[in-house]
Amino acid sequence: KKLGVALVGLGSYSTYQLAPSLQDTEHCYLAGIVTGTKEKEQVWQDKYGIPKENTYNYDNFDTIANNEDIDIVYVVLPNSMHADFSIRAAKAGKHVICEKPMAISVAECDAIIDACNKAGVKLSVGYRMQSDPYTKEVKKYVAEKTFGNVHFVSSDAGYISNGNPDQWRLNKELSGGGALMNMGVYSIQTSIYGCGSNPSSVSAQEFSTRPDYFKDTDETITAQFEFPNGAVAHMMTSHNANGNRLKSHCSNGWFELDPAHSYGPISGRTSNGNVISFPHQRQQALQMDDFAKHILMGTPNVAPGEMGKRDMIIVEAIYRSIAEGGKKQTLDLGNMGIVG
Ligand code: NAD
Repeated sequence: KKLGVALVGLGSYSTYQLAPSLQDTEHCYLAGIVTGTKEKEQVWQDKYGIPKENTYNYDNFDTIANNEDIDIVYVVLPNSMHADFSIRAAKAGKHVICEKPMAISVAECDAIIDACNKAGVKLSVGYRMQSDPYTKEVKKYVAEKTFGNVHFVSSDAGYISNGNPDQWRLNKELSGGGALMNMGVYSIQTSIYGCGSNPSSVSAQEFSTRPDYFKDTDETITAQFEFPNGAVAHMMTSHNANGNRLKSHCSNGWFELDPAHSYGPISGRTSNGNVISFPHQRQQALQMDDFAKHILMGTPNVAPGEMGKRDMIIVEAIYRSIAEGGKKQTLDLGNMGIVG
């Protein structure tokens, strides 16, 4: 059986990445849409052969509970709407994929996790890099100590934002925050899998050079992590600087991905002169198939809600450190969110 996926929010990520990727999946397919824009309904129905009965708007969304074609609801809305729609999807008895960042607070992440547990449905976060072969390869280097112990990780995730200053990503009410909420979750994730464990502390700094444009949200943030094994990491995230890199320095060499988290192809190299190379596949197709296999066959959930919550705990600690002038924040995460 192939699982039916309904996309909620037909913006650029759904349009240019998720819907095309759903044409490449083995275990799921695009079965329905949920949109607040009437004009998109017919266009998507025609393009993807979606029946009228599988087309919803934000008001009648909850009646999706009665639709047996829909197994998974994939929430692809502005960040502050993730919790509401993920919880409504769980209450409708549907498995949930929630885009990154999972929500805009730890409390909201908890509410989503609770709702999914209560409803007995599965939950994952749209962390496509967790299904990417390059990510798996660097996780293997860390686990097998291919280059020895990791001592220092450097990770960057940013781009230069010059678009409409009124876009939701620059509006704190809708985004929950700026670069850190949007791209920062990538540098948090690469810092963690580049080192192989959750950090035990974080200190952070914020930089602002274009306050007229970034009126409401953070422009550039740097942060330093300590790890229980003595390793340290430095991350940079920005809406005013390009960065897309992971480099792990180990006792006997290094490995690097640059780009480390774009849609691909990813590119990597190691200190012994090897080029890390895999055939290009759509990460989103791999990601949705991983989740479908988790539901159908009980394989591990590679991006569980707990991982999204862990990253939000770190996001909140980073904002707290900045508010306290860079003061180090202790983190008590254990193995939370670490899979495999
Ligand atoms: P977008 O602006 O292109 O689309 C947002 C959609 O939400 C639109 O269809 C819009 O009509 C709808 N919407 C509903 N209420 C809205 C409101 N009040 N204000 C603005 N839009 C509203 O955004 P996107 O790039 O598709 O991002 C959507 C989500 O997907 C975000 O959470 C983002 O972080 C995530 N995303 C993830 C990745 C990834 O690689 N995993 C990539 C891009 C986006």
